[in-house]
Amino acid sequence: MESNNWEWWWGAWKDRIRCGSCRALMDLNDDCPVCATNYRNISPTEIVTEGKTVLVPQAFAGALDWSPYAMLQLMHRDWVRPLGRDNGLSLPKENRPSERVLVILLFWTYFETLMGWFYETATSELPRPVASDLLSRYASIGARLDRLHRILFGNRYGDDLDDLGYSSVRTHLENVQQQRNAFVHGMPEAVGDELVEATVNLLPKFHESWIESFNLRCTRRG
Ligand SMILES: [Zn+2]
Repeated sequence: MESNNWEWWWGAWKDRIRCGSCRALMDLNDDCPVCATNYRNISPTEIVTEGKTVLVPQAFAGALDWSPYAMLQLMHRDWVRPLGRDNGLSLPKENRPSERVLVILLFWTYFETLMGWFYETATSELPRPVASDLLSRYASIGARLDRLHRILFGNRYGDDLDDLGYSSVRTHLENVQQQRNAFVHGMPEAVGDELVEATVNLLPKFHESWIESFNLRCTRRG
């Protein structure tokens, strides 16, 4: 299964860097989709050390922070783990979530973490007290995707996904949020195998949509 490969989970972030000019998330091998800068032919930097000139190639930090990277690894590990070993679980069969429920719990935390980065970046050019006030006033993911997004951009986050052609991602995220909330509030069986599989199948598209939405709202446009 293609989704067993780490590439399925990581592919969108491979070779992706943050554009130094406009902050877009771009592929190192392409032009920046927002400001068209390209970093392919940057010559090495000359550094003089102990009287000798040394050429140091340009290095780029990857786009994704360490915590969401670790979450992706954990989701992938849980996805490929052999099933049928949770016999010790003392939950009645009818109230049991998917054996891979951790994928969904991690995915939601991953999504919230990405959106934290999104709104930190989107407010980074506002005066600091204004940005901090907005981020603490609209601290929950629900308030951010709806109210905060409308304050900043006159649209909800879901509307951006629709406008970018990712309605399937928008409806899936709404579904995950709903089922994950039901899981937390007394209905652990709400997260079933179907939801886990749909989430994993949609992951590359989710990444694509997230990166496009970030580039739409969080970049400096000259
Ligand atoms: Zn750029």
